[in-house]
Amino acid sequence: MSTATPGIDAVLALAREDIRSLEPYKNASWEPSFTRLHANESPWPPAFDAEPAADGTPDTGTLHRYPQPQPPELLQALASAWEVDPAQVLVGRGSDEAIDLVTRAFCAAGRDSVVVCPPTFGMYAVAARIQGAAVRPVPLDAARGFALDVPGVCAALDAGAKIIWLCTPNNPTGTELAREDILAVLSAAEGRALVIVDEAYVEFTDGPTWTREVSRYPGLATLRTLSKAHALAGARMGAIVAAPEIIALLRRIVPPYAVPGPSLRASLAALRPDALAVTARRIAVLTAERERIVAALAVAPGVTRIWPSAANFLLVEWRDAAEALARLRAAGLLVRDFRGYGGLGQALRLTVGSPEQNDRMLEVLA
Ligand code: PMP
Repeated sequence: MSTATPGIDAVLALAREDIRSLEPYKNASWEPSFTRLHANESPWPPAFDAEPAADGTPDTGTLHRYPQPQPPELLQALASAWEVDPAQVLVGRGSDEAIDLVTRAFCAAGRDSVVVCPPTFGMYAVAARIQGAAVRPVPLDAARGFALDVPGVCAALDAGAKIIWLCTPNNPTGTELAREDILAVLSAAEGRALVIVDEAYVEFTDGPTWTREVSRYPGLATLRTLSKAHALAGARMGAIVAAPEIIALLRRIVPPYAVPGPSLRASLAALRPDALAVTARRIAVLTAERERIVAALAVAPGVTRIWPSAANFLLVEWRDAAEALARLRAAGLLVRDFRGYGGLGQALRLTVGSPEQNDRMLEVLA
């Protein structure tokens, strides 16, 4: 992508001036045909990892070498999977890292603010607070199925918010935000704030993604992760997808070697067609299991409400969540306690497990 993204100047102008003019750290160059005497590495691989991968994986280096900062083959594989351009992708240690980076790039401490729509993923607000940015909560409307409060978001924009965090399917409710509401926020935010749609759970939906629409809106970014449907939470691989100019800005502040070699190898393996086929089958199993759990809990004693979920978890309300929690714990099952969080009442979030794990959970609850 060599031509400038139309409308990007107004978006870049939202970023911190000191970040835009920052002199980035210079990585040790990546020139595999040369002998590396420029990065103060060990000349030998660790004793337990003497052999590079022999399975046709592209040369990603062994553990004694610093990895490539933004590995082109990974950007290409993710871009193909998500139907975007590699220049629109920045990878890091989980989407958590992207949340932190984009907050730091756009919010000046003590001056700027972000909008979060609770109940939602907690890291948006935590990253803002770490950065010294104010958090403007605009709660989702539970009476309308946790719909966006568009006028509320617009009021926060008027107050100067720099980032609008939207999450769909939303964690912890599992509900999806309406397309027309997101479009309304995008239109109101144009040239005034960055709108970031977190699509951590989008693989579990059958709908189109906002990631594919990033090219259409210079002020739209999305978050993606390999932690959920792709089963790589331990590899810490996530990304922000945005206009190439925003990605270039974030590249200036991403830590020098953001992608550990073993995570790179695992991620490339997860994006090969054979692994993607397994992932697709597992998604089908998990969504079918989710509906089986809904049907069973709908008639379970003590359950007062099950929110419709498009993700791999369910938000369930109880007459007495503490009692359900205690029973699950006694059976060795952990679920997430959301009582009182972001306006929720007696709510627990249940992750959809394997059919056997779900059987155990339903035995306890049903
Ligand atoms: N966004 C959402 C909505 C999440 O639920 C999570 C993980 N719980 C993340 C982002 C972060 O995921 P990761 O850092 O593993 O990519």
